[in-house]
Amino acid sequence: MLLENERKKIIEIALKVKAEKLIPLTFGNFSLRDPETGYVCITPSGMPYDTLHPSDIVVVDVNNNIIDGERRPSIEMPLHTAMYRKRPEINGIVHTHSTFCTAWACREGGMPCIIAETAELVGGMVRCAKFVPPGSDELAEVTSDAIGQDKAILMGNHGVICIDETIDKAFNDAIIIEESAKVAYIAYQMGNVNTLEEQMIHFLKKDAEENYGQK
Ligand code: 13P
Ligand code: ZN
Repeated sequence: MLLENERKKIIEIALKVKAEKLIPLTFGNFSLRDPETGYVCITPSGMPYDTLHPSDIVVVDVNNNIIDGERRPSIEMPLHTAMYRKRPEINGIVHTHSTFCTAWACREGGMPCIIAETAELVGGMVRCAKFVPPGSDELAEVTSDAIGQDKAILMGNHGVICIDETIDKAFNDAIIIEESAKVAYIAYQMGNVNTLEEQMIHFLKKDAEENYGQK
């Protein structure tokens, strides 16, 4: 089977996203780009993740042509492929409807960056792309433009999308952004929030890139 290991990886990520409760039911979608062929493996539309077989994962190219697979790909395939076309360095995408991110995506002004993890991931306020219908070409265009050089963006009245060098990293980002959204929500309920200064946010991002974890 074409890209069998990569297709298995998509299922592994989908099950992890589900276990982390970042999506209800069959919502969300996940993809990776194989650096060798440039092909994208993506979840099928609306199928329960715990029933997926590698052959259910659809292989497409970045221009939305189906290369292999019988299933209809995720309705957000144009969004995933637009991201891959615009960001050559990213090879993994995780789109969820995690609760706190989605709640922030339903209000004006994006999500404030008030903890170190958000600063390290996004380097500032988590911006929010305007609402357009899920699965539309317009959503692909609006969201892939709005993310700029960031690794995550809220999708207006819908959810959140994380993009990174690998799908494992994008999955971690989806957890970090949801945790950030939860903390920010609670902090603003409590009031008198100490915000992080712009300069400190930039320092935290650079410092994490250079010094966090193992070489
Ligand atoms: P799919 O099941 O087609 O991927 O749709 C889920 C979703 O989250 C749409 O934005
Ligand atoms: Zn969605």
